[in-house]
Amino acid sequence: MGLELKPSKTRITHTLKTIEGNEKSKDDEGDEGDKVHKSRPGFDFLGYEIRQYPVGRRRTGYTGHGKPLGFKTIIKPSKEGIKRHYLAMSAIVDQHRNDHQVRLIQDLNPVITGWSRYYSDACSKQVFSKLDDLLYHKLQSWAYRRHHKKGKHWIANKYWHTEEGKWRFASDGLELHKHSRIPIQRFRKVAGSRSPFDGDWIYWATRRGQHPEISSRIAILLKKQQGRCPYCGLFYKDGDLLEQDHIVPKARGGRDSLSNLQLLHRHCHDRKTAADNTNKLLQASSGGTHEKSQCAEEPCEVNVSRTVLKTSGSGDWLA
Ligand SMILES: [Zn+2]
Repeated sequence: MGLELKPSKTRITHTLKTIEGNEKSKDDEGDEGDKVHKSRPGFDFLGYEIRQYPVGRRRTGYTGHGKPLGFKTIIKPSKEGIKRHYLAMSAIVDQHRNDHQVRLIQDLNPVITGWSRYYSDACSKQVFSKLDDLLYHKLQSWAYRRHHKKGKHWIANKYWHTEEGKWRFASDGLELHKHSRIPIQRFRKVAGSRSPFDGDWIYWATRRGQHPEISSRIAILLKKQQGRCPYCGLFYKDGDLLEQDHIVPKARGGRDSLSNLQLLHRHCHDRKTAADNTNKLLQASSGGTHEKSQCAEEPCEVNVSRTVLKTSGSGDWLA
């Protein structure tokens, strides 16, 4: 794509072993971010720490040929990132020293949720609980400071409420979000040779729920169906012909909304419409003429005649 690495921002490092005497020492864990950076194996990138850890037989990663590697790659929030986030939260708590609890919660919640969502595809579980813990202590001192003369229990009852045996920092129905309540969902790797420029909109829309070359409705449906045809159960491939189908046909009062739509192979759509119509004809033959008039209104009339031929060929009721 014509991009180049900037040498001054590029560093060659080992992701598993400490080399060149860059032993991890306590002094390096101090405030100078750069020092910490150099002393550890692995590297930080976009707020993530990417590093490998030696592990035993049970937890090891494997080569493509199934050989054990003896280490595992772990991607988690970087120390710098965690610190920055904690400082941001503390600053908010300090700003609201004399404010109402609701205001404090309103300002903290988006910061907590946003940060946690960003890291929800990495190994963040422990970091999340740790941050909830730290924030709890910060809020405790926020609360104590406001009521010098009251006891701990009184303060705890004022600002924290128990629900299902767990403490929640809440007021007036508004509750403080927790990092640890954001579910961790692993990032699905982009398949080997894929590129967003390969024109395979079925793959990319299924993955992302959007694609510049197709309507958002189709892209959303693809993502919702995880790239699979609900009629035949097969995955869509590049070049397949797809059609939108009303799950409950419009003629029978089905709505034109996303919840009533699905994406089918063109040939599956034909079969489904045919089946819908056959059912209707069956109903009509047993239950009077009322349904027949509706049948004519079905938008895919062409398919009706095709079906009739098919069904009569197989020698059942129409014959
Ligand atoms: Zn299909």
